[in-house]
Amino acid sequence: MLGVHCSVSGGLENAFVEAAELGIDTMQIFTRNQRQWKAKPLSKEEVDLFTNTFQKSQVKVTFSHCSYLINLAAESDEIREKSIDALSAEVSRCNSLGLSYCVLHPGAAGTQSFETAIKKIAQGLDMVHDANPDTKVKILLENTAGQGTSVGGPFENLRSITENVKSKDRIGYCFDTCHAFAAGFDIRTEKGCDSVFDGFDNILGLKNLKVFHLNDSKGDLGSHLDRHEHIGKGKLGLEPFRYIMNHFKKIPKVIETPKEDDWDQKNLQQLLSLIK
Ligand SMILES: [Zn+2]
Ligand SMILES: [Zn+2]
Repeated sequence: MLGVHCSVSGGLENAFVEAAELGIDTMQIFTRNQRQWKAKPLSKEEVDLFTNTFQKSQVKVTFSHCSYLINLAAESDEIREKSIDALSAEVSRCNSLGLSYCVLHPGAAGTQSFETAIKKIAQGLDMVHDANPDTKVKILLENTAGQGTSVGGPFENLRSITENVKSKDRIGYCFDTCHAFAAGFDIRTEKGCDSVFDGFDNILGLKNLKVFHLNDSKGDLGSHLDRHEHIGKGKLGLEPFRYIMNHFKKIPKVIETPKEDDWDQKNLQQLLSLIK
């Protein structure tokens, strides 16, 4: 269950071309231009083309990453409303396309307290759930590097959000290795990984961990820098990847490392070589 974030440039179904070239069974996509608020609704043709290509593809699991613009905790009512609408639309798009999950950065508090931000995020998620009553698509809260006022560095932030959501079974988690390290979780050794994932299990429950983002980190431990590096080439080294590849074989994993030359292929090979 290993893959990459695939490009949908020129049409959503094109992601499967990249996936086939890389020989992967797992992929993450943007279902829309992630840097714009407005997204054209999917046409029936687009949905059919995507789902037919999906069925014929070797890809088993596909999920989406939400637009970076979304901030369910936004201080501005206008931005918050746009965020709730955009996330509702994303869940609906995932549902039409047959995707299992959409990965979401929880949000940023700005000048508000984290307590307020967390309540607003949970409320926003309730509204998105209410707008999409009949779907199995789960929203996966991604741990963050804790940069600026972003919520989701400590696992407790994510737990507080879920505790305040009505339909808790519609929430899961995505663990990003770069973000965790930058947020202060030392996963560079086996012992460190044991302790971090024990903590994850106690606070969030490993059964709710649905997706890994495997990225090395340009920033140091606790730097709060969200800068991804090629696998084994950053401050993390190979140990955390060896640990995850062997301890969490059944959980889908994608890399989000810089798209340069044939680095996706190299990073995938590196990760596969770590399996015992
Ligand atoms: Zn992300
Ligand atoms: Zn990520």
